[in-house]
Order: sequence, then structure tokens, then C-alpha cells
Amino acid sequence: MPPSPEPRRVSILGATGSIGASTLDLINGGGDRYRIEAVTARTKVKELAAIARSTGAAYAAIADERLLGELRHELADTPTRVGAGPGAVEEAARMDADWVMAAIVGAAGLAPTLAAIRQGTVVALANKEALVCAGELMIEEAQKSGCVLLPADSEHNAVFQVLDADRIDAIEKIWLTASGGPFRNATRARMAAATPEEAIRHPNWSMGRKISVDSATMMNKSLEIIEASHLFPVGEEKIGVIVHPESIVHGLVSYRDGSVLAGLAAPDMRTPIAHTLAWPDRIQASSRRLDLAATAQLTFELPDEDRFPALSLARTAIRAGGSAPVTLNAANEVAVAAFLDRRIGFLDIVAVVEDTLACVGTVATDDIAAVIMADGEARRRAEEVVLKRSERAP
Ligand code: NAD
Ligand code: MG
Repeated sequence: MPPSPEPRRVSILGATGSIGASTLDLINGGGDRYRIEAVTARTKVKELAAIARSTGAAYAAIADERLLGELRHELADTPTRVGAGPGAVEEAARMDADWVMAAIVGAAGLAPTLAAIRQGTVVALANKEALVCAGELMIEEAQKSGCVLLPADSEHNAVFQVLDADRIDAIEKIWLTASGGPFRNATRARMAAATPEEAIRHPNWSMGRKISVDSATMMNKSLEIIEASHLFPVGEEKIGVIVHPESIVHGLVSYRDGSVLAGLAAPDMRTPIAHTLAWPDRIQASSRRLDLAATAQLTFELPDEDRFPALSLARTAIRAGGSAPVTLNAANEVAVAAFLDRRIGFLDIVAVVEDTLACVGTVATDDIAAVIMADGEARRRAEEVVLKRSERAP
């Protein structure tokens, strides 16, 4: 019998989240083909310990320093090494691995994602905010380290699969589809009264709270336009958004000869993750299968930018360049958190981003320190805008 191949070493940054769970599901289904090097989380210490224990992870890092004692206690009888604090999360990202899932939510994932890229193997990128804030740096660092950066975001993964990278000039348009979220047909008046519970109830996808709110405002698609502009260098004007409520077609590429290639799959994040996990091979995955006959109908419509003003903000930020996308992202994170805390209303989220973009100047972001500075400044200004709006609230 031929010897079985060495297991692939994998790390999961953001292991306790929605993407983390889908990733673990695929890895657990792969038997002894994988060995877990590092897993990380922010505060869910018991969950992180359970993941480390069941997977035999070599290292577990919790971002909240105060939880080091608890993590150590939980894993005392295991060989797993433990660490705490943002430095420990970065250390986890730097460990030797053949594949790293970057699935921390928000700009908090910036430094760990960059560390994983510098470590240089294959990085599956779910943490779109890192690419929004520092896309050029991430791509540059990947080129230096030889890291293969694979998009795990479903739309970008679909585009990646049908993109003829050797004939970028022949591309007329890249389309990202959008489900339209829970308020696709809602009036602005209805949206004004939306609660966090309604906003996170996504019609097709089960995701973390922040990205669910982003889908409801369509800021998610705005972030994805910026993400796509870094991954696929065709120019922002060639990246379009089309609303497709069934979430079956995830991305399309139109070529100059009239051909249109589309990536389809049932709405299940395990499919794009499995693609990145096996790339360039393909593994057997347990994700939901697409039943075209049962689906029966696929519909498409242009997005309504009057009801969803978030969509145009991506283009404003890309054209402004420098720190503008950092400001957009930071203000959105602050505003989403304030909405989830019921300090501002649903429509205030995008208004906060607009106001913050208008009052924060654009500076160059040539290195990661400049990105982090711009992120901090935008957060401070966005908090002020939130405070003003919350004082105005009834
Ligand atoms: P989630 O909230 O379910 O999980 C986030 C993970 O990040 C958790 O493990 C959490 O512990 C960790 N985390 C949060 N703040 C942190 C911090 N300050 N330091 C270290 N770790 C921290 O989010 P999710 O839905 O899994 O999304 C993760 C990323 O993937 C986001 O960038 C999101 O936009 C992207 N994404 C998600 C989906 C999806 O279906 N869920 C689809 C496409 C892209
Ligand atoms: Mg997406």
C-alpha cells in the first residue's frame, strides 16, 4: 500500500465564527487529511477551548487578554499551547501552515491577515475588511512572500473560478450578485423602523451579525466592490452589482466576444471554502447541492441606489483613494455596532458613514501603520457622529 500523504497543516483565524464553523465542518469531514496548527477567537473562550481540544490544535489564541487564565485552565490537560492578546493572535497567524483561513470580522483582522500572508502559503480570505482597508499592501506582500491569496467570499470565489486571468483585457464586466437582504422591497420608512433582530434575519445566508447588518444596508456589496477592485484589476467601472434574490448565481464575468461565464452553487459557504481548501484540486465536500429543476426560477434586477445609498459609497471611496476606504470601513463598523446596541436607527448606519467620509480628510496609506492610524481617526470621528445622531433620536 502506498504511504498516506502527510496531513495538510491548517490554521483558522476566527474559528468560533460562522465562517470558522463552516471551515471546521469541512476539515472534520476530511478525517486525517488535515492537522490543525492554530485556532483563534476574540472572547468565546469555552468554544475556542472545545475546538482546540476536539481538533488537537497545536496552538490556541484568545484576543481578549483577560481570558488567558481561563483558556489555560480549560486546556490544562491537553498538549495545546495557549496565548492571549492581539500579539498572540498574530503569532497564531504566523505559524507554519499550508493553508490559513482568515475569518476574523472587521479591521481587527488586518494585522493577523497580513501576518498570515507574510508567512506565505495559501491564505483563504474571508476577512474582506482587511482587503478593503489595505488591499494594495496585502497583494504586494503576497507577491513578496509567494503567498497564494484565494477569495473565500462567495461572489469573489465564483468570479475567481470563471475569470480568465491571462486575458484580463478581454473582460467587459465583472458582476457581483446581491441577494438584496431582508429589506429588498422595503420602503425607506419601513427601514427607518427596522430593529436589529429584523436586520440580521437574512433570507438566504446564515452569517455573523456584522455582515448580516451589512447585507441589510447593502454596505456589504459596497465593501465587496472595493474587495473585487483589489482582487481583479479591471478598474472599478467594470465591476457591477446585480440583485439576484435566489442567491444561486454568485458572480459572472462578461467577455468582449459576448460570452458570459457564471459561478453557481447553493447558498452554502462550505462550497467556496472547500474550493480554497483544495485549490488547485477539488475535494468531496458536504455542502448543499444545487437542484436547478427545484429552483425553477432565477431573477435579476438592478439595485435601487436611492433606497440603498451605501452602494455608491464604494465608488466614491475608491475614486478618493488613500485612506477613504479605511474611513468608510471604520465608520461602518462603528455605526453597525451602535445600531446593534440600539443607539442609532437602521438608516443612520449609512448616514454615519457618509457624514464621517465628509469630515475626515483623505491621507496616503502606504504602510500598515498609516492604515491603523487612519482607522483610529475615522473611528473617533464616527463615534462623534453617532453621539450626535443618538442625541437626536426620539
Ligand atoms: P462572526 O462574527 O461569526 O465571527 C467572527 C470571528 O472573528 C469570531 O471567531 C470572533 O471571535 C473573531 N473576532 C472578532 N473580533 C475579533 C478581534 N478583535 N480579534 C480577534 N478575533 C476577533 O463573523 P463571520 O460571519 O464568520 O465573518 C467573518 C468574516 O468573513 C467577515 O469579514 C465577513 O465579512 C466575512 N464573510 C462572511 C461570510 C459568512 O457567510 N458568514 C460570507 C462572506 C464573507
Ligand atoms: Mg459575499
